[in-house]
Formats: sequence, structure tokens, C-alpha cells
Amino acid sequence: MLVLDVRLNSYGKMATKITEFHFDKKQQTWICPKHGDVGDNTAWVHCWNGCDEGWFDDYAEDPIECEPGEVSMCSECLGEGGWRVCGDCNIDNPDAEF
Ligand SMILES: [Zn+2]
Ligand SMILES: [Zn+2]
Repeated sequence: MLVLDVRLNSYGKMATKITEFHFDKKQQTWICPKHGDVGDNTAWVHCWNGCDEGWFDDYAEDPIECEPGEVSMCSECLGEGGWRVCGDCNIDNPDAEF
């Protein structure tokens, strides 16, 4: 999910600034709000919510209430299983995998 930071620029027009690390599809590169274009200098942080690659197996946890195969999406990583983060920003992050 992207966080959009909308403010007025010096001309009084709406300027939209993306304040979260994201992939720019046009430029095919990762953009850090702090470091700008970081190319493929990224790291991966696994979701801390205890999900299995972004999902919970509802049936395994509650076979009485749930049908086999019932799963629910992790509300933290939204089914991603983790987050792609800026390599520069997370160089000292022990949870980041490079
Ligand atoms: Zn998760
Ligand atoms: Zn960065």
C-alpha cells in the first residue's frame, strides 16, 4: 500500500509525493523517498505477523469452524509475505535480507 503525501507546492498547485519505498514501473527502478532512484539496491524484510508467505491457513488453526483450504490474507503484509525495502536505509536493519 502506498502512502501519498499530498501538499501544495510553491505555485499553489497540488503536488503528490510518494513517501514510501516503491517500484516505479515507468523507469523500472526502485525509488526511495530518501535516496531517490536506488536501482536494485534493495533488501527484503519478512513479515513479522507469523503468516505463511502472506497468508494464514484458517483450516489448520480451526478445523471445526473452517473448511479445508480456507485461508485468509495477512493484514500486515497484504499477502506479500514481507516488504521490499531500500538497501541503503536498512543497511543496519538485522531483519533485512540482502
Ligand atoms: Zn504477513
Ligand atoms: Zn533509502
